[in-house]
Amino acid sequence: MVAPRVETQCLHKTAHPLIPIRGVEFFQGTLDSTDEIESARVFDTTLRDGEQSPGTSFSYDDKRQIASVLDQMGTHVIEAGFPVNSDAEFEAVRDIASATSSTTCGLARVVDGDIEAALDSGVEMVHTFVSTSDVQIEDSMHATREEVVQRAVESVERITEAGVTCMFSPMDATRTDEEYLLEVIEAVTEAGTDWINVPDTCGVATPGRFRAMIEKVCAHTDARVDVHAHDDFGLATANALAGIEAGAAQAQVSVNSIGERAGNAAYEEYVMAVESLYQCDTGIDTTRIAELSEIVEEKSGMDTPGNKPVVGDNAFSHESGIHAAGVIENSDTFEPGVMTPEMVGAERRLVMGKHTGTHSVRERLVERGFEPTDDQVRAVTRRVKDYGAEKRRVTVDDLERFAEEAGIDRQSQEEVRV
Ligand code: MN
Repeated sequence: MVAPRVETQCLHKTAHPLIPIRGVEFFQGTLDSTDEIESARVFDTTLRDGEQSPGTSFSYDDKRQIASVLDQMGTHVIEAGFPVNSDAEFEAVRDIASATSSTTCGLARVVDGDIEAALDSGVEMVHTFVSTSDVQIEDSMHATREEVVQRAVESVERITEAGVTCMFSPMDATRTDEEYLLEVIEAVTEAGTDWINVPDTCGVATPGRFRAMIEKVCAHTDARVDVHAHDDFGLATANALAGIEAGAAQAQVSVNSIGERAGNAAYEEYVMAVESLYQCDTGIDTTRIAELSEIVEEKSGMDTPGNKPVVGDNAFSHESGIHAAGVIENSDTFEPGVMTPEMVGAERRLVMGKHTGTHSVRERLVERGFEPTDDQVRAVTRRVKDYGAEKRRVTVDDLERFAEEAGIDRQSQEEVRV
């Protein structure tokens, strides 16, 4: 456990704007091509795959609250749960379906009882799945390839007959024999599925390989294609984006990337990459991302690491002298420029510690009403660095004490004397 040694304080307090900020036009250099994709939909699985994180269990109220924020933000699909799992789960899915304007999705195995429970819950989309890799067909399902195709087709037919949107997933697609995978995809397309989700269930895809795979899948179906990535090698968001570049219409993501094992592609990373790097409007109100992340962190019991992209405490924090000095002058110097804390409802912070430089200390002293000379700034900076190097928190009170010990005048005292 590393003790926090820095005091964080807001540089700029920003009220959440009513209209989402997007499309910041700042691109220089070699990565300025932003036209690879035209649209990217968001399928959130925080309440289903996210809840399958070891140790995580959402209550009925937790699910309702998270779904409500996802809905208000404009999330296209909310996978609310697995209705056959329990009465409480069924009620949560049912009530989310009736309370939200997002498309609510319920998960079902290719089993009659699962599909009927999902249909009874009143969801607008049923997501049915079956293993297609030989390892899972043999040692998880104890079935044959022929039985898998038959059950997949029958399930898709049952869901589409019921008049709801059908999503079919060949589970473990990335470890499935390609010829057989395409046979399954053609069979469920023929049966009328609206969506085919391509899951990288065990997280073995790489962006280049996944891209080629999704292009092939798109060529073998007229259903819309969706992708589901896992982060076993830290590639989940990259793979989701590769899928979108290859022609998938939608990616499955979870807030804070919670989910089975190392988790899923992160909602916040995917949405902000699409918005900021591809300059493509998702329709999501990104200014509530920080709030959403905090709710999921609390309800899931999974702490968000400080260095987590977009939502970690350090995502818009600066300590080192060169970076902090640059950011004080223009935040584009050492931030992406195309993604600001305001865009995700967060705040930029300058933290004091071992790597703090004089610009940062001067800025903070002036904020506190001091009028330091250059020598006094250098003296206080030395104290801050030494104190921070001992892994101690450098608080605002510490800074004031250092300033007073260095004999720095306060503006207000000057005014009183005058
Ligand atoms: Mn999964």
